[in-house]
Amino acid sequence: MPSAFVLGVDLDGTCADFYNGLRPIAAEWLGVPADSLTSEVSWDLPEWGVARAPGGYPKLHHFAVTQRDLFRVLQPMPGAPQALRQLSDLGVRIRIITHRLLIKNFHRVAVQQTVEWLDGHDIPYWDLCFLADKSAVGADLYVEDSPRNVAQLRAEGHPTIVFTSSTNRHLAAPRADTWDEVLRMVTARMGRRPARTRHAPLRPARRSTRSTRPRS
Ligand SMILES: [Mg+2]
Repeated sequence: MPSAFVLGVDLDGTCADFYNGLRPIAAEWLGVPADSLTSEVSWDLPEWGVARAPGGYPKLHHFAVTQRDLFRVLQPMPGAPQALRQLSDLGVRIRIITHRLLIKNFHRVAVQQTVEWLDGHDIPYWDLCFLADKSAVGADLYVEDSPRNVAQLRAEGHPTIVFTSSTNRHLAAPRADTWDEVLRMVTARMGRRPARTRHAPLRPARRSTRSTRPRS
């Protein structure tokens, strides 16, 4: 049985509009106007002053997920669900790889919100991996926004598309500014794949499209 082309897909900042979703919650938590928090952020959000607040980013993260359902209310990046559906229909095995369990004692809610978000936006996937070391699960191609993850994946020889955000403009190509570009880059790479690894389209067992409550 030939192997499927596996696309390793990051969530926050790649599929999910993480910074725009977190901004109003951070403003509430910090007690500042939302429009005072710039959208041009660096990794770890020094521009928002989160590190100077009691508990720093871990406390904000915990508040956002457990009290404001962050992982359920994030908006998808424009075109992400549609592009992933097209890729899935082309036979790509979508492997979601996320480091959302970075804080102790909230895994149940983080996983539950993540699955509901994926289903609620009809995003197909075969695998859902929660781990920090993204190379550990493997993929033919990764889509990722974290500067550290991109650097690590590429250093280990894993082809990686950097999905553009204000945190990663310094990174080298290949990069995609939109999900239309991701779609084109992935299909182009599939076309260059050795014939022995091509395969008939696979279809994931999609979950039932039960209603969810995307907000904001
Ligand atoms: Mg990310």
